[in-house]
Amino acid sequence: MCPSCGSVNNKSLGKPKTNAISARMVDRDYRIVQCRECETYFVSPLIAFSDGDWAKLYGAEYFGSQSGWLVKKRDQELTGRFEKAMELLNGRKEIKFLDVGTGEGKTLIKGLQRGWDVTGVDIVDLRVPEAKKEGIRFIQGKFIELDLPKNHYDFIYLDSVMEHVLNPFEYLQKIEKLLNPGGLLYIGVPNEDSLFNIIRKIAFKVAGRKGISEKIKPFDTPYHVVGFNNKSLPFIIKRAGLEIRYFRNFGRKMEFLGSPFGSKAFWISLIFLFPIEMIGNLLGKDVYFETLVAKK
Ligand SMILES: [Zn+2]
Repeated sequence: MCPSCGSVNNKSLGKPKTNAISARMVDRDYRIVQCRECETYFVSPLIAFSDGDWAKLYGAEYFGSQSGWLVKKRDQELTGRFEKAMELLNGRKEIKFLDVGTGEGKTLIKGLQRGWDVTGVDIVDLRVPEAKKEGIRFIQGKFIELDLPKNHYDFIYLDSVMEHVLNPFEYLQKIEKLLNPGGLLYIGVPNEDSLFNIIRKIAFKVAGRKGISEKIKPFDTPYHVVGFNNKSLPFIIKRAGLEIRYFRNFGRKMEFLGSPFGSKAFWISLIFLFPIEMIGNLLGKDVYFETLVAKK
């Protein structure tokens, strides 16, 4: 059943790629499918991994350290998002801010610096020491199960979360209840119909991996279990009763500068990924979406 619209009308796109750890957990014939009604990508049947299984998969991830350049760029991006949100909130004062999927907590630090009342939520506490200081509220647990105040928050931040959860519509429904009227939600998600993915599909064919879908990677890093495009993302937002105020498709150009100069990752990024992204940008098929949506 489609996690965005509930339809059972979908088409199979192939099998998901597995890695050494996930291959041992896959005990049924999973398929990557696309909803014929709203175009959301998801896995059918519903993934039956336990919390322990997911912890094992995510725990095996290695998060390479970011270069100073990339840290600065991410910080600038965050400032830009906050500025845009404040513009749409018409200079609203005393902002109550909720960060869903806190991670290291950089968003909370930045919110606190602006004098906001900040709260972070995450399943695990991965916060850097600065994000643990006084004035920062943190709740460890599953967002969907937490009892948070309704009609309360002015600004909720949901970056790189929707593609990792099996129930994105429930997330948006819950967030809609937590926002106060006119309150804003920031959403950042990958574009599954990016040029990058189209090239990946060709690469899979060339490599003889026919039958494996290039869409979402539920069983291999970065473990995206749901995917959106420029139709399904606006659809799920509107279905949750939220109103789009700002919508942008954007790329991660020049990110090769984030890998150590001369490393394998640097050259792969420079020679292959950079040109694909440049062309993707020109075609309006960039790799990410970001949107600011409001509670009516
Ligand atoms: Zn659907």
